[in-house]
Amino acid sequence: MNKLTSKGELILKTLQHMKGFCTAQEIHKKVPEINLTTVYRNLERFSDSGLVQKISLPHQEFAYEFSEHKHHHTICDSCSNIKHITLPAKVLREIPELSHFDPDSIEVIIRGKCK
Ligand SMILES: [Zn+2]
Ligand SMILES: [Zn+2]
Repeated sequence: MNKLTSKGELILKTLQHMKGFCTAQEIHKKVPEINLTTVYRNLERFSDSGLVQKISLPHQEFAYEFSEHKHHHTICDSCSNIKHITLPAKVLREIPELSHFDPDSIEVIIRGKCK
């Protein structure tokens, strides 16, 4: 992991504290001393390095989540509600299309509508 800048560290801590997905805007509201562009840039960097998970919401917005435990998500296309779900890793690894590959981690995002 690259060395974090103090701003980066603060952004990450804020994200960690908020538990669950939040947008750059929401983080910016918690730490208004850091400008929105910097918040975005750091979140992108964290997501590139695999430290946080990024999910695209309807309306071209992104949400980010910091989690120590890998899990999966369902996201509603009409209200953007995100739920954290667990799926048995064994089942995912047994997908025939993955037979040529040895996955380290699998992130599943299931889109649809709330029931
Ligand atoms: Zn919904
Ligand atoms: Zn989650």
